[in-house]
Amino acid sequence: MKILVINVGSTSIKYHLYEMDTEEVLAGGTVERVGSPGSQHRWRANGRASQAAIEAPSVRAGLDAVLQHLIGPEGSLKVLSELKAVGHRVVHGGEKLVRPCVVTEEVKEVIRACAKFAPIHNPANLAGIEAAQAMLPQATHVAVFDTAFHAELPPHAYVYAVPYELYLERGLRRYGFHGPSHQYMAAMASEYLKTDLSRLKLVTCHLGGGASVCAIDGGRSVDTSMGMTPLEGLVMGTRSGDVDPALAIVLGRLGNSAEEIDQVLNRRSGLLGLSGVSADFRDIEKAAAEGNDRAKLAIEVFVHRLRKYIGAYAAILGGPDAIVFTGGIGENSASVRQAACEGLMYMGVALDAAKNRACDARGSGGVVDVAAPRAPTKVLVIATDEERMIAREVARVTAGPTAARVRVTGGAIPIGVSVRHVHLSRADCDSLFGPGYELTERRPITQPGQYVCRETVDLIGPKGELARVAIIAPLRKETQVEVSRTDAIAQGVNPPLRESGKLEGTPGLTLRGPKGTVALQRGVIVALRHVHMRPDDARRFGVQDRNVIRVRVEGDREMVFGDVVVRVDEQFVLDMHLDTDEANAAGLTNDSVVSYDGLQ
Ligand code: ADP
Repeated sequence: MKILVINVGSTSIKYHLYEMDTEEVLAGGTVERVGSPGSQHRWRANGRASQAAIEAPSVRAGLDAVLQHLIGPEGSLKVLSELKAVGHRVVHGGEKLVRPCVVTEEVKEVIRACAKFAPIHNPANLAGIEAAQAMLPQATHVAVFDTAFHAELPPHAYVYAVPYELYLERGLRRYGFHGPSHQYMAAMASEYLKTDLSRLKLVTCHLGGGASVCAIDGGRSVDTSMGMTPLEGLVMGTRSGDVDPALAIVLGRLGNSAEEIDQVLNRRSGLLGLSGVSADFRDIEKAAAEGNDRAKLAIEVFVHRLRKYIGAYAAILGGPDAIVFTGGIGENSASVRQAACEGLMYMGVALDAAKNRACDARGSGGVVDVAAPRAPTKVLVIATDEERMIAREVARVTAGPTAARVRVTGGAIPIGVSVRHVHLSRADCDSLFGPGYELTERRPITQPGQYVCRETVDLIGPKGELARVAIIAPLRKETQVEVSRTDAIAQGVNPPLRESGKLEGTPGLTLRGPKGTVALQRGVIVALRHVHMRPDDARRFGVQDRNVIRVRVEGDREMVFGDVVVRVDEQFVLDMHLDTDEANAAGLTNDSVVSYDGLQ
């Protein structure tokens, strides 16, 4: 299958064409100066770099030139219809778009809304999507978000300590970026270290024009240095990274407009602002070697900040198994790696100086370990490949949920893993959050009209408490708490296995919200596993509402689930709901599919 990955910036289009069966790069290039006269198309083919002047007054014209090139004499396609899918890199997906997804009108609407946090990138990304959809209508268009890898950051890592309403009402929180790069580093590190991602703690450092650090625990991003926008965190080419927020206030009081402050912090700061030489690290290293004091200072500030983040993330992870470097600076600057790891012996970090100097990750299969032979913590230099990561995600999305991981023999049913959650009644919502309180949407869930709220409640049982449990809205007639058996045991309650809404004879427990507590008399259940489907799905499977079926899980924890209740309704979307105990026992995630295995 051939997949085109495009990354449309404010003045450029970068593209890579992959044969996904082998992950071979068939073509790749860049169109520069899109929207201005004098556009250039540069590309590599058969190991040779070429370029041509083209007319690209718009993204559409630039993309058209790329597509014509791809089916031209030097191109790798016979016809455009060979392109089965197009992957679009999108910078900001906000809280709603938390995984790669097929582009629909709703998806475009959310990308448009997220432009408030990425005013340059998201509109450019969207222009690329619309141009590509118009020119390649036969292809499936998939958006892959820079923010998505960080979607499961815990609240204590993503909220700012500002009035909580600013998060609830305006979505002002940390999101994180460079997702495909951090995700790619994690995947490569796991392969290189021959250790499953679930057992690895990593600090990954993407040091390019933009730069960020990520703490990855068990394959999940648990903290990252970029925040609501890519401005926070490390010192970058032209961005300041962390500053006292009052700096912006003072600049404002000195008469600078928001636009001017934006320019200062995003375009005139960082390595460029400090050195006065360039935003390019090579120029600064050269100037520093020639004795330029400001260039030396720029490098020292850059490295100091980086070391601070590595130390902080080592603390968060409780000691990483590996520190990973990538990006133009991370891959190429031995002196930055050396200085960043200096004095980290106490956490098992020691470099092999010669290996570090000689390291060429791109020329050595993509990964080099530059740690001293017996140092307990690995230090890996990895040649990042965000486009390949995006192409993999596109292949996964277009193949259907994890077809790559799980073979499906019967009709495929996607999995939805229900993490413990609460449905609230109006009266209980009032008691917990205050009279008339309106819950706010964080992100939709599969079933139409339902969503996870930003608000959470604590569950208090006779033996234990569970903090910050998700609320699923809209409100219902009666409050219902759905937990796994493991949760129930930890809390000291003994709920029955029940269908949603059947609450007679169920135990209660106490809910705690910011404005009060509710002692439930009943309502706690362990949800009976079930499949939602539409009537046409039911016809396809030959089942009816309330039938009980079996489904087969294939993969590394193969099993058959019986006692699965079918629920049919026009409003439903096909998916099977399992709780976390059931999903973990079968090795299933939200990306998995299972197959229909007959009536029971
Ligand atoms: P982007 O984030 O824009 O994709 P890159 O990952 O290509 O950028 O990184 C660009 C940065 O990497 C620039 O600051 C550049 O100077 C730096 N860089 C590239 N090669 C080297 C090198 N050999 N030594 C030091 N820095 C380098």
